[in-house]
Amino acid sequence: MELDFSLKTREIIVHGLNGKYFDACVIGGGIAGAGIFNLLSANGISTLLVDKGDFASGTSSYSSKLIHGGIRYLQQGHILLTRELLRERNYLVKNTNFVEEKEFNILIDNYSWNPMTIRFGLFLYEIIGGKLRIPKMYRDKYSYKGFKGYFTYTDAVSDDAYLTISNIVSGAMNGSKAINYAEVTEINDKEANQVEVKILDKVSGTSGKAICKIVINATGPWVNETLKMYTGKKISNLKLSKGSHVIVENKGYIKNPIAFKSHIDGRQMFIIPRDETLIIGTTDKFVDSPNEFSIDDEDRDYIFRSAKRIIPDLKEEDILRGYAGIRPLYGRGNSPGRVTRDFHIEIDRRMVSIMGVKITNYRNAARHSAKYIERLLGRKIYTKGLPQILYQRNSPGTIETLLDQVIRYEMPLYTEDIIKRRLGLFFFKKDGGESLKSLIDEKLREYRSK
Ligand SMILES: Cc1cc2nc3c(=O)[nH]c(=O)nc-3n(C[C@H](O)[C@H](O)[C@H](O)COP(=O)(O)OP(=O)(O)OC[C@H]3O[C@@H](n4cnc5c(N)ncnc54)[C@H](O)[C@@H]3O)c2cc1C
Repeated sequence: MELDFSLKTREIIVHGLNGKYFDACVIGGGIAGAGIFNLLSANGISTLLVDKGDFASGTSSYSSKLIHGGIRYLQQGHILLTRELLRERNYLVKNTNFVEEKEFNILIDNYSWNPMTIRFGLFLYEIIGGKLRIPKMYRDKYSYKGFKGYFTYTDAVSDDAYLTISNIVSGAMNGSKAINYAEVTEINDKEANQVEVKILDKVSGTSGKAICKIVINATGPWVNETLKMYTGKKISNLKLSKGSHVIVENKGYIKNPIAFKSHIDGRQMFIIPRDETLIIGTTDKFVDSPNEFSIDDEDRDYIFRSAKRIIPDLKEEDILRGYAGIRPLYGRGNSPGRVTRDFHIEIDRRMVSIMGVKITNYRNAARHSAKYIERLLGRKIYTKGLPQILYQRNSPGTIETLLDQVIRYEMPLYTEDIIKRRLGLFFFKKDGGESLKSLIDEKLREYRSK
């Protein structure tokens, strides 16, 4: 790749924020904002993306990291949503080198779905996903003791943060600007259909301004805080639901991702093998604040007890760490499981707000938001085949060359940015990236001083 996208690029952009004009300003560098940024940029629309933390530091690095159609959504009758998600899954598997198709096992016992329902559901799921497979129940007595058997089906795993950042870098490659650690603190209408966005650079503590024709509010769980800053209003049907995961060591005997129902409350859960770890989750609980990004004891205990039925020798001491994310859902259901997982878009004055975007369907969400953005910008936006991922890492070679590439082209500022959101070490390595901390520190220092 020719173009650098690093902490040095960031400095140049920050210094230019003295009333610089953009057609569009995207607030939020999670998957929703990243997809829209990439699509607008591919249309030659000058766009600025800002995130108050690192890119993907909100929910888009704390998901289950599945790229899936959602068996559960199909079971709930959301056939169109499942079809849309499966199309997007297939696109990402085909067009990236980091969305990997896997064979999932779905376990059958008295708490689970009835085998006939599962057989029919999986048949439909695979057909919608483009595969003709007659689901078969395996009754292998050595696997999954205490269960009647299991079915298999196809889905995919990825790294949510890397997918997000690849989209941001792709948008930058088409000429738009993106910066992390830059918080929007004020949004005001100006004359001539323009909006003034005040941006606090969290690194230097100074503020700058961008003038934009329109603003895209892609702040996920903070969507209401951002809307309120501009219009004083809130979206009443925005529901925040916290989901937690625990990470345990992958001892090697769980090869395929497992879907099962918790014996505690019948909720669907996953055990997902990822390199040196197993990621186990998740919970689904309404919360009031968008800032509750931490796993509590109750969640940890629920996940542990649910997973112990599948992994009988699992001990509490095996839990290496946990994490939580907040789903920004839009809907009316009075329990989190009943609120739709589809996205929702609203326009108010010169702001387009988007919420409920899943990692899997961010491209579709970006294409839909283009219709609203077109109206405000007064110009045609092409969406066919967009957004496209133009940036993917090439073969990494050694850890040193991988770090050089990430630092130069993916704008990490701090060691934690690399550990959590560039290389996923926190999630996929047993030591959570501890052993690489000093090398990463050194590499960042070396790049800064060049
Ligand atoms: C536990 C859990 C598991 C999930 N699993 C899956 C899964 O397996 N597959 C799937 O497809 N989906 C999954 N999802 C759903 C998916 O992760 C989320 O819907 C998605 O990440 C939301 O993205 P977003 O961009 O809307 O929000 P976020 O990722 O939270 O991005 C919003 C961004 O806005 C920034 N921001 C906020 N305020 C400001 C401001 N004033 N100025 C500048 N920036 C600001 C934040 O820093 C943040 O980075 C899961 C969700 C959860 C919680």
